[in-house]
Amino acid sequence: MKFRPVPDYHMHTPRCNHACGTIREYAEAAVAAGLTEIGMSDHSPMPGGFDAAWRMHRNELDDYLREAEACRDAFAGQLTLRIGLEADYHPGSEAYVADMIAAYDWDYVIGSVHYIGDWGFDNPDTLDEWDKRNIDDAYVDYFRLVAESAATGMFDIIGHPDLIKKFGHRPSEEGDRVLAAQQQMLAAVQQSGAALEISSAGLRKPVGEIYPHPDIVAEAARLGIPFAYGSDAHSPTEVGHGMDACLSLLHEHGIRHIAAFRQRQRQMLAFCND
Ligand code: ZN
Ligand code: FE
Ligand code: FE
Ligand code: ZN
Repeated sequence: MKFRPVPDYHMHTPRCNHACGTIREYAEAAVAAGLTEIGMSDHSPMPGGFDAAWRMHRNELDDYLREAEACRDAFAGQLTLRIGLEADYHPGSEAYVADMIAAYDWDYVIGSVHYIGDWGFDNPDTLDEWDKRNIDDAYVDYFRLVAESAATGMFDIIGHPDLIKKFGHRPSEEGDRVLAAQQQMLAAVQQSGAALEISSAGLRKPVGEIYPHPDIVAEAARLGIPFAYGSDAHSPTEVGHGMDACLSLLHEHGIRHIAAFRQRQRQMLAFCND
């Protein structure tokens, strides 16, 4: 490892129905990988049972918290375990999300966009929908939603901020409006004070790239937007995955600090000495 290990704040549990491993197993994997801090961030429930197959039910939230708290206490002195949530930004659900955030003493909340309207664009089951869509439109709609998510002020971390590229769909070369939407997204994040997530998950997906793209990292660095790291582990084997690659990308763009959260207070930690 070229850099000091940093907190990995993005990992799931089987409650979302597409991850495996107990929280203890995630914690053990973190210790084995030499990490000193992780945070759980399972997919939160959404109102009206929206896409319920891919997330916790509201009645599982307590159990999630109890398991995380017990594990946090059991690993005290060995590993810092933070308790967070990956909440969706989906217009119309803001009040529900705000209630859920207020109902517990979270260390951080990740805000992610996984839907354009009712379309779960990152869901492999609805991949064929891409054939019916204009790619530039999808990018513009996506970045607009991410901008809106930041503008709500509800989130500490903006999750995988160019997830729209997951399956390798690329905007057109003359995609000026895509670039404008991307720029507006970054301006909104800067204004909100939220951190942008640098995620290794894209390395494990068809796109084969870190989220976000180096151009976005460069512009975010120019704007002074802080970054938080996440592996988006859906299995204990993925904890800390690609950390060095993510930190290298940040480092190339002059960034030397990464965000840490406790009770929704952000602190910046140096991940290297130069
Ligand atoms: Zn997931
Ligand atoms: Fe996500
Ligand atoms: Fe996730
Ligand atoms: Zn350095």
